[in-house]
Amino acid sequence: MTTVPVSLRPRNDNDSPKDECGVMGISTPHGEGVAELTFFGLFALQHRGQEAAGIAVSDGQRARLHKDAGLVANVFTPEAMAPLTGYHSIGHTRYSTTGSNAQRNIQPFLVETMHGPLAVAHNGNIVNAATLREELLNRGFGLTATSDTEVIALMLAAAGGRTWQERVERTLPAWKGAFSLVILAADEVIAVRDPWGFRPLSLGRLPHGGHAVASETCALATLGCTDIDEVQPGEVVTLRGAEVHRHQALAPATQSARCTFEFVYFSRPDSVWHGNNVHHVRQRLGMELARQSFVEADVVIPVPDSSIPAAIGYSNESGIPHNDGLIKNRYIGRTFIEPTQAMRERGVALKFNALTENLTGKRVVMIDDSLVRGTTAGPLVKLVRDAGATEVHVRITCPPITHACHFGVDMGHDGDLMAGHKTVEEIRSHIGADSLAFLSLDGMMRAVGASDGYCNACFTGEYPIPVDEAQAKLSFEGAIA
Ligand code: SF4
Repeated sequence: MTTVPVSLRPRNDNDSPKDECGVMGISTPHGEGVAELTFFGLFALQHRGQEAAGIAVSDGQRARLHKDAGLVANVFTPEAMAPLTGYHSIGHTRYSTTGSNAQRNIQPFLVETMHGPLAVAHNGNIVNAATLREELLNRGFGLTATSDTEVIALMLAAAGGRTWQERVERTLPAWKGAFSLVILAADEVIAVRDPWGFRPLSLGRLPHGGHAVASETCALATLGCTDIDEVQPGEVVTLRGAEVHRHQALAPATQSARCTFEFVYFSRPDSVWHGNNVHHVRQRLGMELARQSFVEADVVIPVPDSSIPAAIGYSNESGIPHNDGLIKNRYIGRTFIEPTQAMRERGVALKFNALTENLTGKRVVMIDDSLVRGTTAGPLVKLVRDAGATEVHVRITCPPITHACHFGVDMGHDGDLMAGHKTVEEIRSHIGADSLAFLSLDGMMRAVGASDGYCNACFTGEYPIPVDEAQAKLSFEGAIA
């Protein structure tokens, strides 16, 4: 494994919430290409985390692991893949949530236990992890990382029970918060979803035998899976070769709390969650926005990529034609080379260029998925204006984000959020737009097709489970420098 200096990690300078993590789990009876299947599943989940990736594989007795900082395609060279042989496998692609993006926090975590090898990969954030970590330390456990995933792995290693399923089910009630987990033991993969259902997790049948679980259905579709179904909140699914065993280990929470932001921004448009295609939901977000905040204009443009379906929806509903107005360099957030100061000063120009021919002399509606710190919207408005637009009207496909997320999405702290301390008019003035409108909470939920059962805490401050404000990301960092 190579060591990547902290200052040379991939940068993601845009103003959207940072992606969270993607998890994969696979078990086959034949063991052919298990690591390769996991690789291509992770490749399809790359949008969920671009800082690090890892795969752990078990051949029934021994588990092997490779993980490193970087994109999936960079971490897994043919040489790195060669030793990863076996029947059962889990994988992870990471953007750091709890714990900094240090090398020691890259997942999966693999530990040796009295019951054999155990590896864990996690999407989400356990809000009581600091307390659970303290309990482990008081019981004499040594911890090497600063992430809640290590806490999960060590709690499982120490749990009583005859089988890993029993150990998982006995430990599960202690974890509060968001967790879509994949767990690798010597001869099985276990998938677990928290009772609130914060993060997506789906199960499918592989075309040549065995089963796969993945954060998003796009990864299962990439592998050719059929019979795709959601892992239910509170459910434990055990994959063992050709067998799959499903058990509702915990009752789903009275009020489930699926993350609305999966639809607004995170998930890939071809994924399906809770019966809804993400692309279609985004189109409906745009349609709702057009109904609520129509403005006379000549062209609707998206801030690519996640706002493209919403711009189509806004255009269809308003009758204003849509077109490309901004071209995105899709690879800029994934370079290891820091821009020079002179380049940095050019700001969004590193990532976006204006398509002058589509903007000159036009009144423009610019659709964006969210406004978090407010650092990108202003430069984008200027870019569009400098390209000759006569008016720039910004429309956002969700309500103002006023509160930090504690369930696995890095938006920064409350104080970092522009809408937390500025009115809509103040934000409009700050970003230099002719007008600014956010979609209402009701409009967003109409587009999602649900009136409840979703977490909207970053818009409302009403957290579905109590959160300890002191336990923000990096709260473990004091212990290990
Ligand atoms: S607070 Fe926002 S981003 Fe976090 S889980 Fe809830 S809806 Fe999703």
